[in-house]
Amino acid sequence: MNKKVRFFNLSLDKILSKDLSILDNARLRLLYYGLALAFFTLFVILADVLYQRHIILSITTGIMFLASAVLFKFLTYKPRWMLIAHLILIVATIVNIIDIFIAIQNVDVVTVEVIIMIMLFGFYMLGQKAGLIYSLLNVVPVLTLALLQYSNNYVPPFKPEKVDETTTIIAIAACFILIAFIHSHFYKAFIKTITQLKETSDKQSGLTAEFESAMEKAQKSSEAKSDFLSTMSHEIRTPLNAVIGMSNLLITGNPRPDQKENLEVLKFSAGNLLSIVNDVLDFNKIESGKLVFENIKFNMVELMQNICGGQMMTARTKGLLFKLDVDSILSRKVLFGDPTRITQIVFNLVSNALKFTADGNIWVKATCIEDRHNRVTVNFLVKDTGIGIEKDRLDIIFEPFIQESLSTTRQYGGTGLGLAIVKRLLELQGLKIKVNSQPGVGSEFSFNMEFPVSTEVFEPSDNQPQHATENDETLSAIRMLIAEDNPVNVMLMKKLLSKWSIVPSIAENGERAVELVQYGNFDIILMDLQMPVMNGFDAAKEIRKMADHQKSSIPIIALTASALFDIRERVQESGMNDYVSKPFKPNELFEKIKMLVAKSSTGKFKFSDTLVIPQ
Ligand code: ADP
Repeated sequence: MNKKVRFFNLSLDKILSKDLSILDNARLRLLYYGLALAFFTLFVILADVLYQRHIILSITTGIMFLASAVLFKFLTYKPRWMLIAHLILIVATIVNIIDIFIAIQNVDVVTVEVIIMIMLFGFYMLGQKAGLIYSLLNVVPVLTLALLQYSNNYVPPFKPEKVDETTTIIAIAACFILIAFIHSHFYKAFIKTITQLKETSDKQSGLTAEFESAMEKAQKSSEAKSDFLSTMSHEIRTPLNAVIGMSNLLITGNPRPDQKENLEVLKFSAGNLLSIVNDVLDFNKIESGKLVFENIKFNMVELMQNICGGQMMTARTKGLLFKLDVDSILSRKVLFGDPTRITQIVFNLVSNALKFTADGNIWVKATCIEDRHNRVTVNFLVKDTGIGIEKDRLDIIFEPFIQESLSTTRQYGGTGLGLAIVKRLLELQGLKIKVNSQPGVGSEFSFNMEFPVSTEVFEPSDNQPQHATENDETLSAIRMLIAEDNPVNVMLMKKLLSKWSIVPSIAENGERAVELVQYGNFDIILMDLQMPVMNGFDAAKEIRKMADHQKSSIPIIALTASALFDIRERVQESGMNDYVSKPFKPNELFEKIKMLVAKSSTGKFKFSDTLVIPQ
């Protein structure tokens, strides 16, 4: 009710407001017309009772007449309907009691009508509680009077005033009009409220539908973005893998020193580009909420050695001292967790330490800080003596695409996604990363992670295949099928395999691979996953369905350039034995081939637990 109403206002429109509910506006209207009607009716009745010289009735009617005038004015100046309703009910109750006990000393039709009116007015205007109170205040005196009269106990010292018929008729008519008016008014407001409610609910359903369709659109566009990035990943990574693979081959082919230097630059830049693409893709996967954590068995010492193996070499070439300390308590334990994610986290931290340290040392530690019967808590720490980070940048470096300063970008490159990925991966497991750093002195990143412990004891296998050398020819008798559509990759694979004296057969798509398996004999299949006509997953499924057991059980290694997080499950689901991510390390591929062929000849295939560590 923000409207400014002048004192002399008599208009109803000025006191109604859009800010009020339909019911409250109906209350104002009822008061306005009700008081106006009461004013005129009471004026007539007052004139009549005065004419007939009924003193008490003249006083009570006079009070009501004046009250209706004053309250009407009050209403049109300050529309405080609740206060006005209370005042009306108080005055009406007092007058009613005076009338029945003193003025007419009886309960006639008009009294009954007045009481009904008070009851209706009380309930409609002020609600259930107030309505009940005013009803009782009026009904109880009537019943009391009836009881007193019944037992002849009511003998007042003065005579009742006899109201003539004209006054009675006017009063009866006025009361009827008011009762009908109150009802009709509230019925109208009630219907209006229901219609408005329906309209609101219709509008809400419309909005909900709109919201749902917007959500669907957003979801679709996010899926499209995700799919686009996955496709892009394949498209970018495939040629990049070829570049890296070719530079690897050329470097090992005795180039001139100046050529070797150029090739190293080429290999380094392609590797860098690949890690940027991988970072963007990983971040996209995490942000799209599609990441599912694995819970598989692994040994911490083995895992940490795998993660840091390559990094140690880099440290050595940079002249840095690299120390890896894994708590000896963990060496025989088999833990449950997600080694891929731990690799991703630790690898990112160690890569940064290497990147931002020019001299001094790098220290990677995994300490068991709590060893309860079937759970351990491990503290991971990556410490360096590098350039350090300014205090006010310590929080911001975990934001995506943020680096400590512009000069960092210029000097060290990178996307600024590494730490964002680390932070998100830990947050998704309810964990936090801590950082301590001092510019010019070094940095220290650490976090704690809890792992369930298996009852098994870890046995480091001494009889693991020895690292293959480029000249190893133990695989020369292997009949290999490669399903790969990209001619550059085919050439690359052929060159690599020729070093192991393997001459592979080539299928340019999944369907052709299935055909070749049907008509030929192979010991192992290397299966690219994204191929035209039939993809690698479907081709593997077809092969596994073959009636000839020897063919349906040929070991299959998936070759993937995809950054899909669920690649392991999908490869396993389609019946393949293992996978390698492109660009693969020749030694790793060699070992996998060797292991699977050996297993297949003893008839014991199993999905290998060895994971390829992304480079
Ligand atoms: P990127 O390494 O691609 O720049 P990150 O998210 O991994 O992105 O790191 C963000 C920034 O944090 C880096 O650019 C660097 O300024 C700072 N930073 C991270 N690790 C270290 C470290 N070990 N020493 C010094 N600065 C670091």
